[in-house]
Amino acid sequence: MSSRTSGPTNVLIVGVGGQGVIMVSKVLAQLCQNQGHQVKQSEVHGMAKRGGGVFSHVRFGAQVWSPTIPEGEADILVALEWAEGLRWINFMKPDSGIFIADCQRIVPPFACRDRGRGAEPAYAPQTPEEIMEQVSTGYAMDATGMAERLGNARAANTVLLGALSTALDFAPEAWLEVIEAFVPPRTVEINRNAFLEGRAWAMAGSKRVDETASGLHRHREVARHGPVNTVVEIIDEWCKGCDICVKMCPERCLRLDGRLVAELALPDLCTGCRMCELLCPDFAIRITNTAVTDAVTEAAQ
Ligand code: SF4
Ligand code: SF4
Repeated sequence: MSSRTSGPTNVLIVGVGGQGVIMVSKVLAQLCQNQGHQVKQSEVHGMAKRGGGVFSHVRFGAQVWSPTIPEGEADILVALEWAEGLRWINFMKPDSGIFIADCQRIVPPFACRDRGRGAEPAYAPQTPEEIMEQVSTGYAMDATGMAERLGNARAANTVLLGALSTALDFAPEAWLEVIEAFVPPRTVEINRNAFLEGRAWAMAGSKRVDETASGLHRHREVARHGPVNTVVEIIDEWCKGCDICVKMCPERCLRLDGRLVAELALPDLCTGCRMCELLCPDFAIRITNTAVTDAVTEAAQ
């Protein structure tokens, strides 16, 4: 992103309690101040300790009057949780806003309250691919997965800072200096690597979605009841056999196979409620409910 000389730059950071929204916000605010900008920051912790939404506005520039970003005025939206990102997407500048999000989903319990066939979940249903179609510049990353592979899932926020760094005109070393001052001393190395990995990933191109299903083994089962087909797809490589879907399926129609991969054992019982999809921590299950037509029936076979 080129330097902004007219008006402040607006960065909105959102997530849920415990993810480190405030850390991201403080790092950015401190960096901007170090670089000679006037900075205004405001934050709302809300029900943070109960998994509720947390957001922070950071505005910087030659002169900043208000700490609050009006709707439609955010230059950059950084989401530490997928649905929180979607909830705030209207705050982005419609033609030039940059969307940076961890695809991690933290499903609140109330999202599964309606188990009726084909019911709309309370959790945001849009896929990263669909959102990338809607934004001018976007990065849908597996920041949590990257951080886990580096040895500490909590460094996901630093992975996102790495991606954010590609959208602002500050030198990487200036970012790292501030990050290292904010994180516990024993995690400095992991956070440095997390920043550099997030930065490298974003620099490889915008409108990117981390991981595609190509080359993965998908099991596809079709459950048919009345006027609706339910297609249950399970990706072997992404299922780690945690058993959550098996335990939480209200109809008890899932099980783990001999390799400890989930499978739809009793398709006739599946109601298409999507609870398994929403609760799977690894995005390994996808449920598609469609009205039965001849074409859909054929496609599902
Ligand atoms: S919840 Fe997801 S990862 Fe766990 S067993 Fe089910 S499909 Fe596999
Ligand atoms: S398999 Fe999934 S969609 Fe089908 S009933 Fe069980 S939880 Fe609902």
